[in-house]
Amino acid sequence: MEQLLSRAYGSVQRRKRIKVLVNPYGGQGRGSRIYTREVEPVLAAAQCDVDVELTNYRGHGVELAEQLDIDRFDVVACASGDGTVHEVFNGLGRRPDATRALRKIAVTNIPCGSGNAMSWNLNGTGSPSTAALCIVKGRRTAIDLVSITQRGRRSLSFLSQSFGIIADSDLGTENLRWMGPARFTAGYLLRLLGKTTYPCDVSLKLEVADKEEIKAHYRARAEGTDHPDELSASSPADLGLPPLRYGTVADPLPSDWTHVSHDALVNFYAGNMPLMAPAANFFPAALPADGCLDMLTVRGDIPRRRALGMMFALGEGAELFELPEVEMTKVSAYRMTPWQWEGADGFISIDGERVPFEPFQAEVHAGLGTVLSKSGIRYEAAPPR
Ligand code: ADP
Ligand code: MG
Repeated sequence: MEQLLSRAYGSVQRRKRIKVLVNPYGGQGRGSRIYTREVEPVLAAAQCDVDVELTNYRGHGVELAEQLDIDRFDVVACASGDGTVHEVFNGLGRRPDATRALRKIAVTNIPCGSGNAMSWNLNGTGSPSTAALCIVKGRRTAIDLVSITQRGRRSLSFLSQSFGIIADSDLGTENLRWMGPARFTAGYLLRLLGKTTYPCDVSLKLEVADKEEIKAHYRARAEGTDHPDELSASSPADLGLPPLRYGTVADPLPSDWTHVSHDALVNFYAGNMPLMAPAANFFPAALPADGCLDMLTVRGDIPRRRALGMMFALGEGAELFELPEVEMTKVSAYRMTPWQWEGADGFISIDGERVPFEPFQAEVHAGLGTVLSKSGIRYEAAPPR
């Protein structure tokens, strides 16, 4: 039996201790039923030690993570969408021992929400039962987390920040909810026809400048062998979040940053993982812990026909990456300042959630967070060609 188990698990931890948070409200409100039917049996068969709790209101996930007994568990599994995962990272980040908690606890997603990018990126699936198996067999993997400062507040982002046509078509079409998923397409087309642009200033700490360099950066890091599955909880016990190297959005800009003033930007998107939806591979060269955010900008001076083509290319990320209209860089920090934001109404999305329409600054902390992944070294998305 021991031989069989060691073949099945290799160096991966067996019988993980899992705190499950079920968002009964996520997706179409079927989180609890999906969990009981499709997930619980898998975790039970693998003899995981499981403790289930429902989230009862918005922000409950933050509180539960903040108060979690981190020595009692190895994993927090969110049976939810990406919103609850965002809350758990932020709850861990608020603790006085944040750095240790983020290293000790692997945060994972069992896809039960309407947006489940986390599971697609790390497990390569939107199936709850397959994701459960990925938790049973998953390798501890360090990932970059991003500090966001806005309005004197600091929070953590694990997935994305966006401003422009995509954020607008997503967050700004709540009034078209009756359309179902088509509301995004409708919103996109309306803004395209209206030639809507999103003027803003972007200042950034550039790490990798262009597409060819990005590919080389990816190739140099995505190969290589798997890391041993060690539970390295050796960081100091009482260290909060790492200090901000570049201060906050309220501080003067660092002198070595690059500045771009966009009088007619169409889209700004920064991603910490490649897939923003199952078939939307925005950042094929994203890596779990390279200390970089991948950043995409599209300027407004492109023909509408091309912009329409791009909408259809969203499904094939490698293609999107190759499009000449799409500028790609890797950065370790940036500041986004929309023009005329004071008193204005607009949409900025952090990890898919709406935040105030005000300037914000982002800074990457290399490998601050921990997740479970299949490979231990890369995401489950097609790499750049
Ligand atoms: P979805 O992908 O469907 O949006 P998420 O897990 O991302 O699902 O959750 C969306 C939001 O639901 C999160 O902001 C979370 O705080 C909130 N939430 C969690 N539990 C509840 C609850 N019991 N009632 C209402 N909202 C909740
Ligand atoms: Mg990265």
